[in-house]
Amino acid sequence: MRFGDYKDPVTTLAEDVVNSYRHSVGHDDLTRPLLDDMARARGWRGARATARDVAAVRALRPELREVFEARSVTAANATLAAARLAPELVRHDDLPWHLHLGRADATLPEWVAGNAAFALLAVVEQGGADRLHRCAGPDCHAVFVDLSRNQSRRFCSPAVCGNRVHVAAHRARKAPRE
Ligand SMILES: [Zn+2]
Ligand SMILES: [Zn+2]
Repeated sequence: MRFGDYKDPVTTLAEDVVNSYRHSVGHDDLTRPLLDDMARARGWRGARATARDVAAVRALRPELREVFEARSVTAANATLAAARLAPELVRHDDLPWHLHLGRADATLPEWVAGNAAFALLAVVEQGGADRLHRCAGPDCHAVFVDLSRNQSRRFCSPAVCGNRVHVAAHRARKAPRE
């Protein structure tokens, strides 16, 4: 996390983890390659994801979902504490030296849990808890961090969920009255 801005890709790690289970279609997208990509894109340089890592990260989703839905700093602090990581200065993806959390013998799920929780806490600290959202789309359980300047975002994807809401509203307006 780079203090003072939201440019670090670790900012969206928590939402990617939570949204890797898609409630709308009842499908779990989290595979070893996806988890590996997800973590490496945020600076993880440890071992490749195992089946056990995938199971542990799946189990982490309800904790992280709680942070978004209840805007719970307590939940994020608990997840962060359980990961037992410490600050370390890192460089990845052409970003200058900045702080992440780590530990020499950290497992991939610990690293993901600690860094995802830490990034959400940094968002709350710098931007406020009302930047954490669950999508307003019907039956969509996706969560996201609203990084827009005017904090106007309501949907995980304006093109998908935003559009579904507009179509439904349009139909409701056109429906004949009883
Ligand atoms: Zn970073
Ligand atoms: Zn949505």
